[in-house]
Amino acid sequence: MNKISEIFGSMVFNDAVMKEKLPKDAYAALKQHISDGTDLEPGVANVIASAMKDWALSKGATHFTHWFQPMTGVTAEKHDSFMTPDAEGGVLMNFSGKELIKGEPDASSFPSGGIRATFEARGYTAWDPSSYVFIKENTLCIPTAFCSYGGEALDKKTPLLLSGEAINTQALRILKLFGSDARRVITTVGPEQEYFLIPKELYEQRKDLVFCGRTLLGAKPPKTQELEDHYFGAIKPRIAAYMEDLNQELWKLGVLASTEHNEVAPSQHELAPIYSSSNIASDHNQITMEMMKKVAERHNLTCLLHEKPFAGINGSGKHINWSMATDQGENLLKPGKSPITNTRFLLFLCAVIKGVDKYQDLLRISVASPSNDHRLGGNEAPPAIISIFLGDDLMEVLEAVAQGKTEIPKRPRMMDTGVSVLPDIKKDTTDRNRTSPFAFTGSRFEFRMAGSMTSVACPVYMLNTITADALMDFADILEKAEDVEASARELIRKTYLEHKRVIFNGNNYSEEWVREAEGRGLLNLRSTVDALPFFTSDKNIDLFRTHRVFSRVELEARQEILYEEYCKLINIEALTMLDMAGKDILPAVSAYIQALSDTVVSKKAAAKDAACRMEVSLITSLSSLCDSLYDRIQDLRQLLIDVNEFDTNELTAQFFCGKVIPAMREIRALADELELSTARKYWPMPTYGDLLFT
Ligand code: ADP
Ligand code: MG
Repeated sequence: MNKISEIFGSMVFNDAVMKEKLPKDAYAALKQHISDGTDLEPGVANVIASAMKDWALSKGATHFTHWFQPMTGVTAEKHDSFMTPDAEGGVLMNFSGKELIKGEPDASSFPSGGIRATFEARGYTAWDPSSYVFIKENTLCIPTAFCSYGGEALDKKTPLLLSGEAINTQALRILKLFGSDARRVITTVGPEQEYFLIPKELYEQRKDLVFCGRTLLGAKPPKTQELEDHYFGAIKPRIAAYMEDLNQELWKLGVLASTEHNEVAPSQHELAPIYSSSNIASDHNQITMEMMKKVAERHNLTCLLHEKPFAGINGSGKHINWSMATDQGENLLKPGKSPITNTRFLLFLCAVIKGVDKYQDLLRISVASPSNDHRLGGNEAPPAIISIFLGDDLMEVLEAVAQGKTEIPKRPRMMDTGVSVLPDIKKDTTDRNRTSPFAFTGSRFEFRMAGSMTSVACPVYMLNTITADALMDFADILEKAEDVEASARELIRKTYLEHKRVIFNGNNYSEEWVREAEGRGLLNLRSTVDALPFFTSDKNIDLFRTHRVFSRVELEARQEILYEEYCKLINIEALTMLDMAGKDILPAVSAYIQALSDTVVSKKAAAKDAACRMEVSLITSLSSLCDSLYDRIQDLRQLLIDVNEFDTNELTAQFFCGKVIPAMREIRALADELELSTARKYWPMPTYGDLLFT
């Protein structure tokens, strides 16, 4: 294995490379462009582009691409060669400042929620210099934002960057009041990524995995995860080789892949990078997911990033660790030695509490997808109710502040965690039960509702914007206050009392919590279809407009895209299920019934009185199940015809959710029952046991 320090970032045009490859003045101009957003002179842009090209050619690159994240959530790229023909019939390698800064992908097939149709047919990509350019498979990748000609965002990066500006503006106002001379506040993110690895040859034999990324059918194997022997268990050599290879690839691209371990479910694993700024973390998470899939191929494995690949077995999540930090490296959610007197910390904490309570709907929407609907509330992932875990110690602090105190009675220290950020707050053991959707974990929050495929960008721009909003309210009051400290403490008291209902330290998986949350007036938006209407409420339109993250048109477009995506995905799943049940399962079981019937006939011919109870009983029960399955297949076919009647994506999505999904559930139940009684050699696809335990 190569030494990490030698390969780390070797394919990234990072600060060190910039410094080395760029003339001094170009380097200075670029740095200023990155930090303050000042324009780059065309001449300077050309110098930078040329240096990038020379560096890329020296690394074997032949093409460049504007790399962006359209609303499909999967990164897009269109490769162009550096080559241009010269007058003598040869070629020159060219790359101009213009090509670096702006691109015009033929974007008509990316989702726009109607925006492009009403403005301009084409969109353009614009270089985001705050995320480093890198080389992936002989292509120089330039991280870019993707917009329509009218300036509407058509991607996930643009709102993330804008929300970063919003929180920077508002947090600096607060910091200034507390005497800080910080010049910039960013949000930091460390996403823990879960995934499944299964043998590629088995994956290829399942249409549901190939078309939908998850199994639509499959009886539960005798053993799943009940023994909990996989979690943190020894990593098998084949998997270890994969992880090592993956790490090498990620390190080359400057991704700080750091921890890896097995997860709860068989064949499930996790990778966590060291945290970075939210923009970079979001780009890096995209690279990570892409590499996870690519490297798996090399090892004859398939990486499943779907939120719920197997029923009855834990799905995969993406825990988003999030905090705020200054350019001086201070973490604004660090409680310090004496949280009760740390007014500034308590104020930032309360801003998050207020934001989360006021905009529960937006956080829920940020993780809404048909695939994640299978997970949330499934007794493995947090429920669809948003609440905050603070832990008993921090609650005690806030309760004391609410009573105007600056001291709490000293108690014996419960547990020394050795975690330096937690000197006086014991790490509450309930944090480890992981049932809370949004938990304070010592010096950051961990948002645990995101599914494994969810882009980091969406939950993070929500967190950034809702926190910026609360900070703005605070700053508006405090800037007028005579005694900032006293007013801030009063603000903390009021905010805590007003938004305390969103704090819950107990077991979020319990039935009692669902009832209690209802009593507290918290939202419980069970499905994507329940959640999406809230996206464009007046309250949310106001929020995004105030902080210049989205206009009303952009929000409506995004909502439309989510509905459309929902319908498309469920439609594909339903068609795949029909195909598997009708063309594979029914014929397979029929063949088995035929074999059983032949046996009965030949047995009787050989020995008139031979017992045939087993065969006859199976023939009867399997035949009746096949009839039922056949009927349900016809029903689902009809539903997929009926669904075309609706004029809006919203109504169509409601029909998919209310009618199609339940019909699919019935088909699955019958198919799984057939699987359990059909002889192995007749079953037309690998089973759960094959997929998960080989
Ligand atoms: P756990 O298993 O306790 O959830 P992990 O080590 O698996 O912890 O992951 C924790 C993640 O949180 C890592 O990606 C880590 O870099 C990240 N993290 C730590 N501190 C911060 C912070 N201040 N802001 C954002 N992310 C953070
Ligand atoms: Mg973890």
